Amino acid sequence: AVRASRQTDKAPISVSFEFFPPKNEEMEKQLWASIDRLAPLAPRFVSVTYGAGGSTRERTHATVSRIVRDTDLHPAAHLTCVAATRDEIDEVIRGYGTAGVKHIVALRGDPTTGVGTKYVPHENGYAHACDLVSGIRRLGDFEVSVSAYPEKHPESPSIDADIDYLKAKVDAGATRAITQFFFENDVYFRYLDKVRAKGIDIPIVPGILPVTNFKQASNFATRTGASVPSWLLKRFEGLDDDAETRKLIAAAVAAEQVTDLVDRGVTDIHFYTLNRADLVYAICHLIGLRPKAAEAPQAIAV
Ligand code: FAD
Repeated sequence: AVRASRQTDKAPISVSFEFFPPKNEEMEKQLWASIDRLAPLAPRFVSVTYGAGGSTRERTHATVSRIVRDTDLHPAAHLTCVAATRDEIDEVIRGYGTAGVKHIVALRGDPTTGVGTKYVPHENGYAHACDLVSGIRRLGDFEVSVSAYPEKHPESPSIDADIDYLKAKVDAGATRAITQFFFENDVYFRYLDKVRAKGIDIPIVPGILPVTNFKQASNFATRTGASVPSWLLKRFEGLDDDAETRKLIAAAVAAEQVTDLVDRGVTDIHFYTLNRADLVYAICHLIGLRPKAAEAPQAIAV
């Protein structure tokens, strides 16, 4: 059964929201409607992804610059190492600095030849995310977040090797890791134990993908190595042509996952919003977040 989190006397919850840069005017409207809806929840930061192979370089920049210009939110710009020289990437980093962006999510990125094909670093580029983290730290006083994989990155030989690479990113200066999405919370907590056992003490923020489109989520999962448990599959069984019910089930599933994380002590949560606000807003409400203005009602003059 879904219930509001029981957390009453725990540390306050802090959330962050991830968006992708819009491709056209309609998507732009949808993105800004979502940002407007979620902004009053006062997220710690909002991040904007960087398209495969740098394909959204200008659009990512334009989106984060507008967030700086038009809102009080703290933007984080994603950046990858793919298909660019160090000089080109350094120029993007300096551009963010000039635009007032103080937080970068540093990633290696996927091969331009497609997920699952062999990654070959650019010969004059940053090879791995840890090299990019060092490059960013060298160029300015940025906050740097990185990725983490509770079910290991598909290319990593083992979870241990994967955590060693995470450690390299932390040693290079990363101060937060955001996880790939997962559906079983035990997977996250087991991973967290292993990460802590290796002496990594930065926040490992769970990345939550509220599943509204189950087929799309399964495709993402296949590409990223996240497993889709059979109970989850069963919950969406027979609903392919019933979007309305799917949406209600999706809300229940995501609410259950997030309230469980909070009840087990998690205080920071990152949402992959896919530029949609409604479900994320509802989940945030369930875990106790309220619009900033509503928290301190004005005294009524009599
Ligand atoms: P890394 O941490 O560099 O690791 C990738 C692989 O390289 C590991 O499996 C490991 O085998 C190997 N490796 C790492 N370090 C070393 C080393 N020092 N020596 C040898 N091998 C090493 N993709 C985008 O294109 N744009 C985005 O905006 C984007 N945002 C993301 C946000 C989050 C929170 C997450 C979890 C992923 C995101 N991705 C994004 C996807 C990401 O780019 C891919 O998962 C990519 O395949 C790996 O990038 P990484 O930064 O995790 O790589």
